[in-house]
Formats: sequence, C-alpha cells, structure tokens
Amino acid sequence: MGGFDKLTTGKLSIVATPIGNLGDLTFRALWNMKEATVIYAEDTRVISKLLSHYGLRKSVFRLDAATEGKKALEIISRLENGEHVVVVSDAGTPGISDPGARLVSYVREHVPEATIEAIPGPSALTAALSIAGLVSDQFLFLGFLPHKKGRQTALKKIAASEYPVVLYESPHRILKLLAELGKFALQSRVTIARELTKLHEEVLVGAPDELAKTLEKKKAVRGEFVVIIEP
Ligand code: SAM
Repeated sequence: MGGFDKLTTGKLSIVATPIGNLGDLTFRALWNMKEATVIYAEDTRVISKLLSHYGLRKSVFRLDAATEGKKALEIISRLENGEHVVVVSDAGTPGISDPGARLVSYVREHVPEATIEAIPGPSALTAALSIAGLVSDQFLFLGFLPHKKGRQTALKKIAASEYPVVLYESPHRILKLLAELGKFALQSRVTIARELTKLHEEVLVGAPDELAKTLEKKKAVRGEFVVIIEP
C-alpha cells in the first residue's frame, strides 16, 4: 500500500528563477515549469513574463507571504491528487528572504509521502558572494534587517560579528543602512553588489560613509542591493 501511495502522491518542485537576466533559467527549471500541472508564483505578472520569454503557457496562481498559509491547504490537496506543483518567487530561490519555506514545512508535515524537490539556480546571495572576493569561506546571512524593532540589536550584532555579514537591502533604504553602518561599524570594509546579472551590475567596495557618497554622486541609489560587511 505504501508503494502505491508513493506512486499516486504528487510532487512539489521549488524552482529558482533569474534575478534579473532572463537567460539564467536552468534547463531543469524550464522542464519542470513545462511539465507542472500548475505553477504558484509570488507575483503572477512577473512569472508570466518569464514564461512567455520561453514560449510557455501555463495556469499560474498566486502564493505570496500573505496567502502562503491558505494556499498551502490548496497545494496539499493537489499533491494528494497526484499533481505536480511548481513554486517560484519573483526572483532567485524561493524561501531565501521570499515565501516558500512555510509551505515546504506544511507539506512535509501533512503529506510526508509527497516528493519535494529543489530545482536550484540563481540567488542574489550566492551571486554576490561569488564576485565579492571574500577571503573567508564562512559568512552570516541575515537577509533584510528588521525595519523597526530589533534593528539596533541587529546592527550591534553585525558590528561584533567575527564573520562577514551578508544583507539584502532595497533602494529606498540603502543610504539609511549605510549611515547606520557608519555609526555602528565605521571601520568595516563594506561591499555592495548592485543590479547583479543586469545591465548596470556593479560592485562597490569601501567604508560605509565613502560608499554612501559614491552612490549619491553616481545617482546609483536605484536597483537592488546585496551588502556584505566584513569584520
Ligand atoms: N529569493 C531571492 C534570492 O534568492 O536572492 C531574494 C528575494 S528578496 C525579496 C529581494 C532582495 O534580493 C533585493 O531587495 C536585493 O537585496 C536582493 N536582490 C535580488 N535580485 C538582486 C540583483 N539582481 N542584484 C542585487 N541584489 C538582488
């Protein structure tokens, strides 16, 4: 009976998608999206652009941070019916500062016989580290810092860390973050990897105050940022 269950229970594929350059979709990612019964995406418009770039037409449903719990029930019932469900976020790897992890945890708990498969690919985290030139091969990833409560504590933790700390930051907060790092970690060498895989990709290195000046001067406060603070 167990074997029969395994054959009829579905598959959940957690698929990484490009972080800017549409060419960065793996063959397995493409194949899984093609084969899937259904795709769940953080923003259906973003994924539709990717699908049409590759000539795929699929039904896409929304699964974002706000709906993850509710949609998990829907996905669980699809898996119980033997469907192949693909989950993608807007960019990069689901579950890395993006929805996906809670869903995987629910599925593991409620449909333990379902196959859960990683289709690895781009992530801003690994892309930034791959060109940052850090000598250490250890690092601490904190994702987005909390906006209010816990922020000061996190900044102190960063200043005291014996490992390089990797953060994600949005364009409208990057100068604020650099100003705070100037206060808490003035002596640190900071690397900013900006617009990775896109036309204006660049890596800037310096003290927090120098970097803030550079960004303001270049009017480069737009785009997406990975920030690496060295001890
Ligand atoms: N799941 C994604 C991943 O695997 O990288 C991260 C999603 S998170 C919501 C978005 C953040 O990732 C952005 O605010 C930025 O910090 C970083 N990011 C995403 N794409 C990037 C890019 N092309 N260049 C630099 N940073 C990027």
